[in-house]
Amino acid sequence: MFGVGDSDQRHHVVVFPLMAQGHMLPMIDLARMLAKRGLAVSIVTTPLNASRIRSILDRAAASGHRMQILEIEFPCMEAGLPEGCENLDSLPSTHLLMNFFEATKMLRDPFEKLIRQTKNPLCIISDTFLPWTAEAAQALGIPRLAFHTSNCFSQCCWHSLYVHQPQKRVGSDTEPFVLPGLSDEITVTKAQLPEHSKENIAWIVSGLGKVLEEMQKADAQSYGTVVNSFHELEPRYVDYYINVMGRKAWPIGPVSLYNRDQADKAERGMKASIDERVCLSWLDSQKQGSVLYVCFGSISHFNPAQLVEIALGLEASRRPFIWVVKGDAQQVDQWLPEGFEERVQGRGMIIRGWAPQLLILSHAATGGFLTHCGWNSVLEGLSVGLPLAAWPMFAEQPLNARLVVDVLKTGVEISKDDPNGLVRKEEIHRALCEVMSNSEMRDRAMKVGEMAGKAVEEGGSSHLSLSLLIEELVSYNNRKQ
Ligand code: UDP
Repeated sequence: MFGVGDSDQRHHVVVFPLMAQGHMLPMIDLARMLAKRGLAVSIVTTPLNASRIRSILDRAAASGHRMQILEIEFPCMEAGLPEGCENLDSLPSTHLLMNFFEATKMLRDPFEKLIRQTKNPLCIISDTFLPWTAEAAQALGIPRLAFHTSNCFSQCCWHSLYVHQPQKRVGSDTEPFVLPGLSDEITVTKAQLPEHSKENIAWIVSGLGKVLEEMQKADAQSYGTVVNSFHELEPRYVDYYINVMGRKAWPIGPVSLYNRDQADKAERGMKASIDERVCLSWLDSQKQGSVLYVCFGSISHFNPAQLVEIALGLEASRRPFIWVVKGDAQQVDQWLPEGFEERVQGRGMIIRGWAPQLLILSHAATGGFLTHCGWNSVLEGLSVGLPLAAWPMFAEQPLNARLVVDVLKTGVEISKDDPNGLVRKEEIHRALCEVMSNSEMRDRAMKVGEMAGKAVEEGGSSHLSLSLLIEELVSYNNRKQ
């Protein structure tokens, strides 16, 4: 452990992600970016999550970077969670979501104790979903920065909804309304807002509503916000976030572009369920820009009827595809249409479990991405210049879809109008064909990808933003002493 008497002169930063893939992955990328800039970095996480990321830290150590894991026991039993349920991706039911958040709150005392034993950190970069770290940081006398796994755009949309309440002036859940105060005309419906789109889990949302409120409060009290985005992607929304919402913000992404070599791309998050060489040689055998990548993140699941529609939509598209299925869906024999695998043989690959997403997205054969619009996935697709078929599921994902479809115009949205609540194969087919054949959309996506690459290069906006953040923290620390 980087102890108090540590003779190493490097400044020390503590990074604490929420235990969920969509949070740990970008924050570990951030931790590596900080270590590359010469800082010593401690990542706080639980034993099972630590075992998932150990190889990443070993590789960082081999490159001379100073990183360590600070382990903290996760109180599964005390919070009513099954043993070993230390990550949101192993939650057996969404009904246990609030238990998971309760468990994270119980980490406060052990967290404070742990940080007191380490070399005095410059700051704590905490996941915004761990709002209690604001009070812990205050008790420790260390500045807290909130890390957002979303963009400024969705924060601005929430702000507009909160301040102007346009949702209260519409007659039905499907009546469109414009979000006031934003620089683009962003139209949404109440049905697209989380508490309406998931009526069956409304009680969870009310619990989550409290967490969201605590997050807002904690973020407002914090030193500032680190955002996995880049200025050129959403300049007006970065400005709104800073000037209208009054927050200090450092857009330092896309952090995924920091994964340059094959091992980093292949083992990001956890070991892939497919041998990366098999995956790469299959991609090598496909034409440039021809393959559709279909993946819905780490926690979204579909029922068998919906899975069948996806399968038939992919089959009808007549394009090569890689489709990632998770959870119960991995038992493909139980739902895959008769003869499907034979019919798509050679042009379709199903990955059961964890896919090496960055490796697939950055391969030249990949030409489009059907995504649930989790921000990491959206940004990972955009940063390698891919057009997206947007199928948002929950949280801020419908807003991410608006950014892609309405503002950037680099994607097409899957319509969810079917009265049975299913997205039919015809609609999936339509969206996939559009995304793979619209050359103007493809050109725009390519330009976004080029901008993203430049942002993280030396002299680019995100590179500079990270330098400014480090300088500011160091000088804040010097003034304190
Ligand atoms: N991911 C991956 N392989 C998979 C599924 C997801 O590498 O099979 C990664 C993906 O690259 C992204 C993260 O997991 O970085 C998922 O985050 P996102 O915000 O897209 O969705 P969430 O899982 O939070 O819904």
